Amino acid sequence: MTVPPAACSWTDTLDCKVSRVQFDTVIVGAGSAGCVLANRLSADPSHRVCLVEAGPEDRSPLIRVPAGILGTLPRRQVNWAYATEPQPGLGGRQGYQPRGRVLGGSSSINAMIYMRGHRTDYDQWAAFGNAGWAYEDVLPLFRRSEDQQRGADDFHGSGGELTVSDLASPAAASQAFVESAVRAGLVRNPDFNGASQDGAGLYQVTQRRGRRCSAAVAFLHPVRERRNLTVLTGRHVTRVALERGCATGVEIFGPGGTARIGATREVILAAGVFGSPQLLLLSGIGPRAKLSTHGIEVRHELPGVGENLADHIDLALVYRSEDASLMGITVRTAVRAIAGYFEWRNRGTGILTTNFAEAGAFLRTREGLDRPDIQLHFVTGLVDDHARKLHYGYGVSCHVAVLRPKSRGRVGLRSADPRAAPRIDPAYLSEPDDLRTLLAGVHRAREIMEGVPLAPHRGRELFTDGPGDEALIAQIRRRADTIYHPAGSCRMGPDAMAVVDGALRVRGLEGLSVVDASVMPTLVGGNTNAPTIMIAEKAALERA
Ligand SMILES: Cc1cc2nc3c(=O)[nH]c(=O)nc-3n(C[C@H](O)[C@H](O)[C@H](O)COP(=O)(O)OP(=O)(O)OC[C@H]3O[C@@H](n4cnc5c(N)ncnc54)[C@H](O)[C@@H]3O)c2cc1C
Repeated sequence: MTVPPAACSWTDTLDCKVSRVQFDTVIVGAGSAGCVLANRLSADPSHRVCLVEAGPEDRSPLIRVPAGILGTLPRRQVNWAYATEPQPGLGGRQGYQPRGRVLGGSSSINAMIYMRGHRTDYDQWAAFGNAGWAYEDVLPLFRRSEDQQRGADDFHGSGGELTVSDLASPAAASQAFVESAVRAGLVRNPDFNGASQDGAGLYQVTQRRGRRCSAAVAFLHPVRERRNLTVLTGRHVTRVALERGCATGVEIFGPGGTARIGATREVILAAGVFGSPQLLLLSGIGPRAKLSTHGIEVRHELPGVGENLADHIDLALVYRSEDASLMGITVRTAVRAIAGYFEWRNRGTGILTTNFAEAGAFLRTREGLDRPDIQLHFVTGLVDDHARKLHYGYGVSCHVAVLRPKSRGRVGLRSADPRAAPRIDPAYLSEPDDLRTLLAGVHRAREIMEGVPLAPHRGRELFTDGPGDEALIAQIRRRADTIYHPAGSCRMGPDAMAVVDGALRVRGLEGLSVVDASVMPTLVGGNTNAPTIMIAEKAALERA
């Protein structure tokens, strides 16, 4: 698979100008982390910052309108839309890995759920030898970015760049899901990011007045006019330039050809969980064997690059329903969407503000666990295979995700050609415990989905598996896939397999850092956008 052609404003004139200019810091990738870094680092007017993004500007209405996720998720326009290696745990199927390829990165195509994970996730990072990353250390950083529409409290901040709000117009079915979960024994939780994560509730979302508040909207666009910040779109970074163990810039490629951008202080890779390890490997930084297979000269041996990939494996229970208050592929929904467009434009409310995954739950599948091990996402639509398979009519779905999978995969190269997609092997369900947890989670989810409050919205389950766990396991192998939270491929830590240290600097090199979801030592128990923004806040603070 090759990288799709970049839509961009590349001109030879700009290339020449850029390639002669030296910046202090070059940031690669304008995603969740890259936009935060660009904002914070360029706040000092004497700090010359260049942000380089392979994708285009984020002008598509499918990005701005929350319900537009149905258009961006299955398609390639602003999405790298990677395929994984065939997964033995999934019966040899290839998984799908959407990632944003646009300003805002994956925060421009994600489901907008605002979730930080469990406090023990961060305490565990610190216990692994990453001083300064415990929950009490990172809580102020979460609060710093946040503009919580309910107001500030001990857990939440207000006045930050990232708007966090309640859903403008949640569906009746989502409320019914919460009721059903409560009847099944879960506590009602109005704030998963507050004192306790357990229970069921409506999700809060990164939306401002009913519009997507991506990292680009929150952190980048308000500072685009800063004279010391240069933002380049449509430029694919192909390599980090190294001289005597020090990163001196990056090489970029676009329709106008190749160019080099110098960095006198630092190159920061924020190219995401697949892009950052791929760039390190292309630059000769990584395990010797992985590099020599592709004829790449070893510039710095670092065995952990691309290892430790973790992802939330997920099975979606899908129900076909007759409830016409839901969104579906029907004439009625099309008519409602037209009216909904005007409501959205004028008031920021209505059906187009849905992120579809409106409600959810965190639950423990067995006694003795000290934190939830399953997350549910209740979706107000009939979503099959990441919306790549369309079904006429209405429906709801309940995604069941394993929060702390033991399986670890890897990211590698398919070829030394930077335009080739990376090799992605999440090794789903390679650890038997993950399958056991998923099975237990699916049983609990079905209990909730079969509850009385959901009866008017639910209909019948579309993919039934017959009695017994063997049949359910067969369905998991046939249908399970990611819930879009891969992380950990450039792990932070103090040991030899770590790629970056606690300050997120690449071990053993000068002037090179990785700041994005790839540095997570372990995958957090929740969605990964807010944690990635927090990681960038911390990196920026240490570089101020
Ligand atoms: C469909 C989907 C739904 C999700 N839903 C949620 C959710 O509801 N809530 C939540 O918290 N999380 C969600 N996530 C996950 C979350 O959005 C990501 O974990 C987070 O955005 C990752 O941020 P990042 O900075 O690591 O990478 P990204 O945001 O992916 O940014 C990486 C950027 O680098 C660019 N890039 C890569 N390679 C190069 C290169 N060689 N040269 C130049 N640029 C390059 C990319 O184009 C991209 O813009 C979802 C993700 C997806 C894909």
